[in-house]
Amino acid sequence: MAYRSLDDMDLAGKRVLVRVDLNVPMEDGRVTDTTRIERILPTIRDIAAANGKVILLAHFGRPKGERVASMSLKPVVRPLSELLGLAVDFAEDCIGAEAAAAVDKMVPGGILLLENTRYHKGEEKNDPDFAKALAANGDIYVNDAFSAAHRAHASTEGLAHLLPSCAGRTMQAELDALGAALAAPKRPVLAVVGGAKVSSKIDLLENLVAKVDMLVIGGGMANTFLAAKGTDVGKSLCEHDLADTARRIMEKAAREGCEIVLPADAVVAREFKAGAENETVALDAIPADAMILDVGAKSIETVKAKIDIAATLVWNGPLGAFEIAPFDAATVAAAAHAAARTREGKLLSVAGGGDTVAALNHARAAQDFSYVSTAGGAFLEWLEGKTLPGVAALEAEA
Ligand code: AMP
Repeated sequence: MAYRSLDDMDLAGKRVLVRVDLNVPMEDGRVTDTTRIERILPTIRDIAAANGKVILLAHFGRPKGERVASMSLKPVVRPLSELLGLAVDFAEDCIGAEAAAAVDKMVPGGILLLENTRYHKGEEKNDPDFAKALAANGDIYVNDAFSAAHRAHASTEGLAHLLPSCAGRTMQAELDALGAALAAPKRPVLAVVGGAKVSSKIDLLENLVAKVDMLVIGGGMANTFLAAKGTDVGKSLCEHDLADTARRIMEKAAREGCEIVLPADAVVAREFKAGAENETVALDAIPADAMILDVGAKSIETVKAKIDIAATLVWNGPLGAFEIAPFDAATVAAAAHAAARTREGKLLSVAGGGDTVAALNHARAAQDFSYVSTAGGAFLEWLEGKTLPGVAALEAEA
């Protein structure tokens, strides 16, 4: 992947438009989780330290081109300023006279946050005039929002074609981690894919079987594969209409030399609730009135053994209904094992997408993984092998 980083740019005195992800959880106008803000601090600090003028661009929520007061970025100013230990100014618009006046007042090393880009319809349409209006306030464009890179919007894609552009530190870390995991990985590569349904992950599975050496399938989606192979899965979550799709994926895996590992046993219960009475059964003994809520002890041992063989691990989705104990057991055990192998320097582990971050946090394993992506949709599209427009634009202009 060829793209420029902040180290390749002359930032001193320049107006640097930085696209960041500030789509933070908010309640009653207060930011309730600062994880995303923390992720962009290195980029802001580096640009400010190089005497660039940091002009932050971001979207918040889905105002669909209208000025919706509850979707203002203003509440982000204070936590951002506190975490940085630096003053942060705010402009009530991201284009036009208001934005221009605020930018004109900036001194080198200063930081300015512009209002929600999605207050304008041109943002999501990637309208060239809107992109030009954004570009009018900058000399350089930095994209630090990998999580928004699957969208070709004006501030995520259009700007890269109008100004000298580069990746910010978070984008760089994400691209390096993802590249190491799938573009040029150390083999053997193991993918662990779980979660509720096959239907939401067909493209992902098709892409992975062509790229990885081993694919562990767990969670509710494994039931569809087991049923396609003739297992009676009782009342389990199962997409019977996707039996052909499951078979096609297994055939493709066989052609590509990818070993598919399905559960060998199952933890079943009659109710989907924490502490529900449960038992571990073999696949040919799943009671007709029970549902599979986790993979069993034998399956866990197999997953651990595959992790021991692997040099690289890509993980998306829990192996069971991890939100309700004890059906979190397999996810926790496998995550802890991968974390330990990573700590020992024997595994490069990359995880992300939707519930995966929550599952790894629950297992207290996230901090030991090589990289955990907080980008939901963008991470999944990358796992699907799709080109991310925001990344492609940086590559094209490098
Ligand atoms: P996803 O967003 O596709 O990664 O799916 C995550 C969800 O799958 C979590 O809420 C889990 O509770 C759920 N899940 C995992 N395994 C099972 C299972 N065996 N039966 C029902 N739901 C499951």
